[in-house]
Amino acid sequence: MSATSTSTATEANPDRDASAVLRQVFGYERFRGRQAEIIDAVTAGRNALVLMPTGGGKSLCYQIPALLRPGTAVVVSPLIALMRDQVEALRHNGVAAAVLNSSLDAATRYQTEQRLLAGELDLVYMAPESLLRDATLRWLERINLSLFAIDEAHCVSQWGHDFRPEYLQLAALAERFPKVPRIALTATADERTRAEIRHRLLADGCELFIDSFDRPNIRYRVGLKNNARQQLLDFIQREHPGHSGIVYCFSRKRCEETAAWLHGKGLKALPYHAGLDSDTRQAHQDRFIREDGLIICATIAFGMGIDKPDVRFVAHLDLPKSMEAYYQETGRAGRDGLPADAWMVYGLSDIMQIRQLLANSTAPEAQQRLERERLEALLAYCEEAGCRRPALLNYFDEAHPGQCGNCDNCLNPPDTWDATEAARKALSCVYRTGQRFGAGHVVDVLMGSETDRIAILGHDAISTFGIGSDTDKKTWHSVIRQLLAHGYLQPDPEGHGGLQLGPDCRELLRGETSLTLRRDVIAPKRRARSTAAKIDVDTSSPGWQALREWRLITAQEENVPPYVIFHDATLAAILDARPETLAELAEISGVGRHKLDKYGEGVLDVLATLPAASTSR
Ligand code: ADP
Ligand code: ZN
Repeated sequence: MSATSTSTATEANPDRDASAVLRQVFGYERFRGRQAEIIDAVTAGRNALVLMPTGGGKSLCYQIPALLRPGTAVVVSPLIALMRDQVEALRHNGVAAAVLNSSLDAATRYQTEQRLLAGELDLVYMAPESLLRDATLRWLERINLSLFAIDEAHCVSQWGHDFRPEYLQLAALAERFPKVPRIALTATADERTRAEIRHRLLADGCELFIDSFDRPNIRYRVGLKNNARQQLLDFIQREHPGHSGIVYCFSRKRCEETAAWLHGKGLKALPYHAGLDSDTRQAHQDRFIREDGLIICATIAFGMGIDKPDVRFVAHLDLPKSMEAYYQETGRAGRDGLPADAWMVYGLSDIMQIRQLLANSTAPEAQQRLERERLEALLAYCEEAGCRRPALLNYFDEAHPGQCGNCDNCLNPPDTWDATEAARKALSCVYRTGQRFGAGHVVDVLMGSETDRIAILGHDAISTFGIGSDTDKKTWHSVIRQLLAHGYLQPDPEGHGGLQLGPDCRELLRGETSLTLRRDVIAPKRRARSTAAKIDVDTSSPGWQALREWRLITAQEENVPPYVIFHDATLAAILDARPETLAELAEISGVGRHKLDKYGEGVLDVLATLPAASTSR
């Protein structure tokens, strides 16, 4: 049985059920979400389409059927680095798995093929182009296949940003291997992608499994920019010292600058963007995966194919391109289910910039409308005064009751105020000054400031001069930002940074509609972690340090990322339970049989050197 030895693949074993494999091989207690149903369907030989968010636990949905069904499972995955990590993780659980792709040297390739033909492998991971080679297909027909798992199945969608033409040819699998069940998995949820996956990969029918896309362990926070870099530094130092994280920036230059700046402040930070040569990029990515506590400052180029479970925060220093991008990027935080932060700051200039891009778009009208809708959704999300989760999940057609208790607005409900009158003043002032000036000047006029510019332009003579002197400057900027976000104001089309009236402002100006705005808070109060945090560790405790050091050394000896040895969640649970025997250690989530044999003594040794349990955490 492969569960206990790495040399032979699974024979069908009616005595073993999915729960037993979950416990013995992976060391987990319970299935998550719809995992159990999915595993039942695929184990019974039925096709499945699985939509689950990042970190939801898709891998087990095919790995467990692969262990329960006779023969070898073929896993199709688009990224070589990802395959390697997955196979490494499986081997560490004692599962016979291998990679077969173009990165292998001839000898390893030959050896892997021999093991396959001998039926020694439970799972083999392949890139689609390797799988679809005629020679490969021919010898696959000679072996006993348990299933095909098509990971990142959205790559088959021509409309998506990850389209891979080879994925289209996977349609051939149904004809060539009609008796082998197929399971397609993706974290991209929209209707169109889903239909396309069905059409291309599962035309002969499938069961559909859609899991909730909520990620309860991620705390969503959106703040206002006020010296963004410093805000980021404060956030990291206060809440994530020594943690791994990703900082997304708009441009390559900003990635470089931010990484250098953080580095100068004593943090381990590296840039990652398309302008770096591929060796440097690879090196930075490898370090991110293998080291603890590294921060990557990246453009959107970074992330796909990064399976690192212990990314503790994802920060946005600039607005993401869309809600989809935001959700995908923030989804890289906290795959291990432990508390993680999605942190973002934005300001008036971000809104101006994005609205400008949109205004200058040369795309066809239909696409522009789509882009506009996406942008409106993103801005509305930023300015949201209620729980962030409904705003986020509704976008993906999922209902959420709100009051999640784990977003900034739930933790510190923002004040709102009736800004109808203020908005009318601001809009008239924009109009009276000729719809040519930026927020700075408009606010000066509203407040009745005596600047040179106002004097030269004669704006101290217009009717809106000084009509807002009862309100402070910050509030006026806040009003203007929110008017822009709501579309009552828009940037001038020439891109000079001037403000113009938006198409919908008439009713507001006439007083036919009212407007409620949120009151800005620059530095939100600190709050306690919510109950989403199942295990919270004192990362400065000697126990935690000792276990992490043991893990790092072990990982280096084996040349694998630390999380392949044990996840943070498992280390935290070990520290919490303080097992004294192997039997006690075996009870802990994430400790399967194989890891118990391999690392059990080592872990107990580390624990034995620690001070008494009551003082260690
Ligand atoms: P996805 O591919 O959906 O992004 P993964 O399959 O990588 O997610 O799983 C995310 C993490 O959750 C992994 O570290 C995995 O080991 C863990 N995990 C999956 N299922 C369970 C479970 N039932 N109990 C505990 N941890 C789980
Ligand atoms: Zn909330």
